[in-house]
Amino acid sequence: MHGFIPPHRYYAYLCWTDIRDMQDKENVVLIQPVGAIEQHGPHLPLAVDSAIAQGVIGRALANLAPAIPAYALPTQYVGKSNEHCHFPGTLMLSAETLGRVLTETAESLYQAGFRKLVFANAHGGQPQVMEIVARDLRQKYPDFQIFPFFIWKVPHKVGELLEPRERSEGIHAGDAETSVLLALLPNEVKMDRAHAEYPNTFEPDSLLSLEGKLPLAWLTSDISQSGVVGDPTTATAEKGEEMLNQVAQGWQEAIAAVHQFPGF
Ligand SMILES: [Zn+2]
Repeated sequence: MHGFIPPHRYYAYLCWTDIRDMQDKENVVLIQPVGAIEQHGPHLPLAVDSAIAQGVIGRALANLAPAIPAYALPTQYVGKSNEHCHFPGTLMLSAETLGRVLTETAESLYQAGFRKLVFANAHGGQPQVMEIVARDLRQKYPDFQIFPFFIWKVPHKVGELLEPRERSEGIHAGDAETSVLLALLPNEVKMDRAHAEYPNTFEPDSLLSLEGKLPLAWLTSDISQSGVVGDPTTATAEKGEEMLNQVAQGWQEAIAAVHQFPGF
């Protein structure tokens, strides 16, 4: 059941008495991996974002200093993926439902005495849900610290492993996600079906963009036939290992920072 999470760092393997007797519970770092079950082109499984969230956190926890108490919660596999609604297989929760699930899980943890919760979200279509949930919990529980992190935003240099165009335009099922999946779940990647597809919605000098400073709402079917936005053909398992190690290292630093945060 623990997947990529080391068993001794998996929250659901604890007994209730372990939690009752836990020392310094208000500084224990709980991490909620949040992913998605959504199309990632013809070459990757639906589980990509969930695999990346759990895979990165698992690797970070495996190498985390034993003195830092931290546990990963069961992964929230299904997310808010309605931008992929035209591709069969995608599972979609509304922002409201996902928000309720995360909020009520967080409230259970608060009731158990925990005071630090990190969202480790790997799906680009839902950081806003984590941020709204975090702020609302913060208002309701004055001594609860919530950290709505996006999995790729910790310190790392993964961008240096990508071609310039891929770095800026490879936003879905491209080189980075495909490389990491080749490292995590090599048997589930069909490289013979991998093809590049870049959107040409805007001229290079346009003020508007898909994910820049002046974005617009889009559905994947507006910008891609295959469901891919990027170039997966240059992906390799070696690159994926390097990316995983770098991002996991960044997460170790982030978890240590959360552990040390004294609160307001
Ligand atoms: Zn993805």
